[in-house]
Amino acid sequence: MRKSERVLITGGAGFIGSHLCDNLVASGYDVICLDSLFTGSKSNIFHLFGKPNFEFLRHDVTEPLRLEVDRIFNFACPASPIHYQHDPVHTVRTSVLGAINMLKLAHRCNARILQASTSEVYGDPLNHPQNEDDWGNVNPVGPRACYDEGKRCAETLFFDYRRQYSIDIRVVRIFNTYGPRMHISDGRVVSNFVVQALKGLPLTVADGNQTRSFCFVDDLVRGVLDYMDLDDAPPGPVNLGNPEETSIQQLAEIVLRLCDSKSNITYVPKPEDDPKRRRPDISRATALFGWEPSTELEEGLGNTAAWFRKVLQRVAE
Ligand code: NAD
Repeated sequence: MRKSERVLITGGAGFIGSHLCDNLVASGYDVICLDSLFTGSKSNIFHLFGKPNFEFLRHDVTEPLRLEVDRIFNFACPASPIHYQHDPVHTVRTSVLGAINMLKLAHRCNARILQASTSEVYGDPLNHPQNEDDWGNVNPVGPRACYDEGKRCAETLFFDYRRQYSIDIRVVRIFNTYGPRMHISDGRVVSNFVVQALKGLPLTVADGNQTRSFCFVDDLVRGVLDYMDLDDAPPGPVNLGNPEETSIQQLAEIVLRLCDSKSNITYVPKPEDDPKRRRPDISRATALFGWEPSTELEEGLGNTAAWFRKVLQRVAE
């Protein structure tokens, strides 16, 4: 990207979006952060207000938008089950209408556009690890379908707009990402465990043998930006995530140790349609732009715990 380029980040006040804003503002790009503040917060981007190359726009991506931009990062969508199941119809509208509105904008401005898709498009995967040729095993009528199928339809729209209108698209499938600015009550396993451990509450484990792979947000953002910067790149999809697999039991034990917590572990029922295993095959990202995560789980969790400790202190005060 040239530094003079105007970049739109939808969902820019959210967890991942705000880190993208930080990175692009610091690099000198002209950044427009668009967000409805459904799950995001101005506190994630407060430090950017007043910078000459940063603007905040409160807007819902389900509504059309007229702007002049060169690049679009489409990250607007609630990402945790608690949030996306709160108003499932709006979740589908955000993925589908949001994709259409942003693709129309990209078409009009001749902008390059990147879609934040998800490993959830693989559903409960039949192959392990998951590579991009896996078509997925998704329940289309379950409680997670508003997110999974919404994101699948958004991918379809991206590829159809490319076939029909020659739009320059990038689709990344993001696997579990964690780090500072995760929502404190989003119900995802890392934020749950860290907050429970810091508060001295029992860590709630559904199935300790389930595995996940956890990617630190700085690594993820580096991958997203490297892919966006690649000229003449294939449209994807490209997996971005950490291929190191960790069981939920292991994660709970690491968090307890890093937080120096005396909390116990308790076992609770498994949520419906929760996949048993998740691990990305990242060979495509590595071959295309030399990407692989470099943050060790303990280092990333330590950073995240330090951030949550400060937030909990602020809340207590
Ligand atoms: P987040 O909830 O922190 O961020 C989403 C942002 O989008 C929030 O700021 C929210 O207010 C905004 N938003 C939601 N609906 C909107 C709408 N209709 N119009 C405008 N803004 C809207 O979640 P996140 O973890 O930062 O996820 C960002 C993106 O990355 C999402 O698209 C998500 O699906 C994708 N993703 C995240 C993960 C992960 O592990 N965090 C994994 C896979 C995919």
